[in-house]
Amino acid sequence: MKVDFYGHVRQYNNIKTEIDANLHEVIQSGQFVLGPMLKRFEGEFAAYSGAKHAIGVGNGTDAIWLALMALGVGPGDECITNANTFFATAEAIWIAGATAVLVDCDPRTKCIAPARIEAAITPKTKAIIPVHLYGQCADMKAIRKIADQHKLLVIEDNAQGIGAHGDGFKIAQLSDATATSFIIQKNLGTFGDGGAIVTNNSDLDARVRKLRNHGSNARNVHSFGFNSRLDDIHAAILSAKLKHIDAWNDLRRALAARYTAGLKGAKHLTLPFETPGGRHIFHLYVVETKDPAKRDGFLKYLNDAGIDAKTHYSIAIHQQAGYPWGKAARIAGSLDNAEFNAATCISLPIFPELTNNEADYVIEKVLQWDQAQ
Ligand SMILES: *Cc1c(COP(=O)(O)O)cnc(C)c1O
Repeated sequence: MKVDFYGHVRQYNNIKTEIDANLHEVIQSGQFVLGPMLKRFEGEFAAYSGAKHAIGVGNGTDAIWLALMALGVGPGDECITNANTFFATAEAIWIAGATAVLVDCDPRTKCIAPARIEAAITPKTKAIIPVHLYGQCADMKAIRKIADQHKLLVIEDNAQGIGAHGDGFKIAQLSDATATSFIIQKNLGTFGDGGAIVTNNSDLDARVRKLRNHGSNARNVHSFGFNSRLDDIHAAILSAKLKHIDAWNDLRRALAARYTAGLKGAKHLTLPFETPGGRHIFHLYVVETKDPAKRDGFLKYLNDAGIDAKTHYSIAIHQQAGYPWGKAARIAGSLDNAEFNAATCISLPIFPELTNNEADYVIEKVLQWDQAQ
């Protein structure tokens, strides 16, 4: 059997008529950039997020740095985030001209550890960027409290958690801005790149709308700006998909529960931890080998068995050779948990269209590996 990591084509075929109708509408309207379909999707996404505004931008990385720039974060400022995230979180801080301060994660959730944030704060600290890693919310209540005590901004990196919520809080409720990505492999993905900023701050909304469009909100009148807009073609696809996101997340959760029940006897693996009271939407189902020396062999075993398992992320930000150390990034405290995660993580295939048969095959192969150790 072969088990893919993504179900893009299956998903398209399941809702083809809805996506095709929206695409047809855009093409027939003759309006492809900042047109009515983008406006419609921005309204739908803001409503879905329970926030006043959503602004469609070119990709998730741009969403982070545009939010930082529009909030006045730049050269000389420090932004605290976790070392175990996708490279783009730190990259966006660097693009904004600020310094990324990398701290360790909670060993169970893999999200940023609030105590580590407190220890990393300096007079230069301007913002905290928690990541809802793998589709599970960071501890936003604790983070908001620290931010209030130290007068810091909070920008959520929600590239992986659309539809998740925390224990008693919603995403975008306790922050200044929330950035998300709609690249195809995310759980709300378009056929290409896309992103959005969600906020309740109307000044920020106006500033980002200008920044993403060459510094312009009136024809021929410009100030400092960029070109980073979500195309109407992508908005059409996303508008059709948004109607299904809660049901798709339920399917992800059911598959995660199937994996966890099937794999609970595995002696050589640690299974994902779910914070009680929260809704983890399992953008990724990440297990860890208890022994770092066994991870690469385990990955090869799965790949050889036809299972397209991957790692998220096997090189933490501070372990990347290409990062501009000294200028754009610094480490605060030990990063033991982030480093252990990088050395041991394996993402098993999970997507709404994955069948129970396929999931059971993955379980069978993982258990076979486990028993052979
Ligand atoms: C995907 C991702 C991004 C960047 O999104 P792009 O749309 O690829 O630019 C940022 N942060 C995290 C955590 C991501 O997973």
